[in-house]
Amino acid sequence: MSLPIRLISTDFDGTFYAEFENPPVPMDLQILIGRLQQQGARWVINTGRDLSSLMETLGRAHLSIHPDYLVVVEREIYVHEGSRYAPHQAWNSECTRMHRELFARVEPDLPELFEWVNGRFKASVYSDPYSPFCLIAENNDDADAIEEFLTRYCGRIPNLALVRNDVYARFSHDAYSKGTALGEIARQRGDSGDQVLAAGDHLNDLGMLSRNYWRWRVAPSNAIEPVKTAVRNQGGYVSNEPHGAGVARGIERVLKSTETSTDGLNSKA
Ligand SMILES: [Mg+2]
Repeated sequence: MSLPIRLISTDFDGTFYAEFENPPVPMDLQILIGRLQQQGARWVINTGRDLSSLMETLGRAHLSIHPDYLVVVEREIYVHEGSRYAPHQAWNSECTRMHRELFARVEPDLPELFEWVNGRFKASVYSDPYSPFCLIAENNDDADAIEEFLTRYCGRIPNLALVRNDVYARFSHDAYSKGTALGEIARQRGDSGDQVLAAGDHLNDLGMLSRNYWRWRVAPSNAIEPVKTAVRNQGGYVSNEPHGAGVARGIERVLKSTETSTDGLNSKA
């Protein structure tokens, strides 16, 4: 029997991993993903974290499973090869080049952008290797107001997008997102959108939760309302359990609905 899910993409923080839970990733989710991997499915962690931050946290989590792919900073792809994660050179190089060109156009406007935020809000604004403008707002209301201003600015620069996650935001090229990176992995593997499941909890997950890309969408109970609404409106599943438990319920539901019963996939081990 062919697997209904061949590619699973989970956001990390708040979706797969809950920092303040013990364990941060429920064992039944690890067992479920591990069994699907044994049967040929592949698992992607699709996150806004950078590679070193993700690897450090994964190391401390002592998981029983390892992701087959990583999408980090919502744009770069790494592939599990032996004991390391190797960059998808063609994708990452082009991604870096396009961001460099785009951000050169933003550079002259940076002082004005920083000044606008600093003059109105208690927020942290800075540049890092991934974006000339990064924001940590004091709260979500401030982040909403700053996002509105920055979205207007993005409208003046072709291909410039603002990626928001809670009180965090940064600039990005609109050709690169969690959704387009997942699309590249699926393309490379030859998986059709019908075989892809995506799970996420926040604004930066909306792209990869779009119906245009995949058949299966899951949000845990802690997802923000716009994500729950988007998932429900596209026929996806919003769990009444949080974080990884919610993802596990979503995967189980898909497997049940497609009547896959091999190796007790639908039962808790
Ligand atoms: Mg998240």
